[in-house]
Amino acid sequence: MSDSGELILLIEDEMQMRRFLRVALESEHYRLVETDTGKEGLVKAAAWNPDAVLLDLGLPDMDGIEVIKRLREWSKVPIIIISAREQENDKIKALDCGADDYLTKPFGVGELLARIRVASRHKRLQQSGQNEIEFVADELRIDYSRRQVFLDNNEIHLTPIEYSLIALLTQHAGKVMTHRQLLKEVWGPSHIEQTQYLRVYMTQLRHKIEKDPARPRFLINEPGVGYRFKYDPGKG
Ligand code: CA
Repeated sequence: MSDSGELILLIEDEMQMRRFLRVALESEHYRLVETDTGKEGLVKAAAWNPDAVLLDLGLPDMDGIEVIKRLREWSKVPIIIISAREQENDKIKALDCGADDYLTKPFGVGELLARIRVASRHKRLQQSGQNEIEFVADELRIDYSRRQVFLDNNEIHLTPIEYSLIALLTQHAGKVMTHRQLLKEVWGPSHIEQTQYLRVYMTQLRHKIEKDPARPRFLINEPGVGYRFKYDPGKG
């Protein structure tokens, strides 16, 4: 539950979807500003300075990707895309253009609220200007200052690449990271197409930090898109 009355800007032209989101968010005490066009969305983003933006990719007046690009010229507000199945490719493009996460229609209220909690946690961390020195999720603990990873208080030995991957994914805990973003950060810009590297290293990592690597709890594959460190700041 949100105790802060955070303000969400909703840019979506489907009336039914807007009604669903309005009911879901207002019952959790979020405040909502709505619009059905990209142009008005950009104006309202500047006027209201929302805590998060929910953005439909298929808008009547302009491409959702364009809305993201324009917003990112001046704002770091978390952007969560609402996409339809047929917008699969746009979804990856949207993430690479600076969107934070996505929800694919149809989605449940629980999923929606979890994504918003993750987005606001990242906004708070960004605003505080401090880097976390430690990350904890159940039995997993990462000490970023010493580059050490512990499972049930036993240190796990990771290769430098494995460590870079887990550090990056946990620093974006709860959010999806595209293959391209991960490859660029860990291997460098010339390796953004080498998705097979990622598969190999993610398998290794799962064997080291997951109790059941075949059914991972932390390192979740988002088919065709990337990976997500599963984490919900609202729970636990
Ligand atoms: Ca639409």
